[in-house]
Amino acid sequence: MTTPGGPSTALHRPGTVGEAVAALAAEARAGRPVELLAGGTDLVPALRTGTRPPAAIVALRRVLELRVRGAGADTLTIGAGVTYTELAGWSLSPGLAATSRVVGSVQIRNCGTVGGALGSANPRGDLLTFLTAAQAEVLLTSEDGSRAAGLDDFLSAGRLPGELVTAVRVPRPSGPQTYLKIGGRQAAFPSLVSCALLVDRVRERVCCAVGGVAARPWRVAEAERLAAADVDWSTGTAPAALARRFGELAAAGVRAASPLGEDPRHPLEYRVHAAGVLAARAFARCLTARSAPRRESAP
Ligand SMILES: Cc1cc2nc3c(=O)[nH]c(=O)nc-3n(C[C@H](O)[C@H](O)[C@H](O)COP(=O)(O)OP(=O)(O)OC[C@H]3O[C@@H](n4cnc5c(N)ncnc54)[C@H](O)[C@@H]3O)c2cc1C
Repeated sequence: MTTPGGPSTALHRPGTVGEAVAALAAEARAGRPVELLAGGTDLVPALRTGTRPPAAIVALRRVLELRVRGAGADTLTIGAGVTYTELAGWSLSPGLAATSRVVGSVQIRNCGTVGGALGSANPRGDLLTFLTAAQAEVLLTSEDGSRAAGLDDFLSAGRLPGELVTAVRVPRPSGPQTYLKIGGRQAAFPSLVSCALLVDRVRERVCCAVGGVAARPWRVAEAERLAAADVDWSTGTAPAALARRFGELAAAGVRAASPLGEDPRHPLEYRVHAAGVLAARAFARCLTARSAPRRESAP
């Protein structure tokens, strides 16, 4: 088998998390740049173009511990090696399932993993937008021990040398969740603009994040405050006009954030507008009362 990075690249194939972090630590001590290989959907194209030649690769395919999903009383834990295909059918998290279903093609969903999405940290990455709305925690392990980091902290600080993402943790859903995206080609590329919305009927709040406009997925706090105050929490519904206002506030919120680099084909103004439309649509999908079925008039 050829080593993915080239003939001079060392290849480690650990069978456990312990062996994986030992390999990472050994490479870090030797001062050699090292990459983790999960599904390879981002890494392999980068290696082929030679933009990222690592001295060593730690391949995670054999680390079965990373491929486990679990449910606790209040949280769901998803191993870094879990693929989009596995999440797409997961009934315990309708939002993660909806997000995973619109990622890439079948081949990308079969290979791409949660750990790879966090490792690449593409600000347009679909999973990152959903995990931002879900207020996920990232679980990391190194030879020195394990820790949990809030997703925002993880995205701004990154992982320390020798650390491996082992899992993410999200609260168990307690209301409707949805994920909407606009892309150059639907389900073939990371989103152009996306919106994740989660309703929490227990804490009476709505969490909403927008991707593709700000430098990283962005929570729209003002819109969330409006929803918390004006949704009828006894029924979990809201009037249609509130969805429109929610979208306007979401657009204003994300416009104020530090923007993602300019894209001549999709100017910031267009992406801000699209974010507002998606947020209003997501809100309506999760919270607007369905109108009573119309009575057919007698012939
Ligand atoms: C044609 C195509 C279409 C795509 N469409 C979409 C799309 O619609 N939406 C979307 O969001 N993305 C899309 N992607 C991007 C890609 O599928 C995801 O980012 C994927 O989740 C990467 O996971 P992976 O397992 O393949 O990671 P890999 O390519 O194996 O690794 C990616 C990076 O993550 C690091 N890494 C891997 N595992 C870990 C770990 N456990 N801990 C720490 N770091 C780690 C690696 O070192 C590497 O830097 C697309 C990619 C392609 C090529």
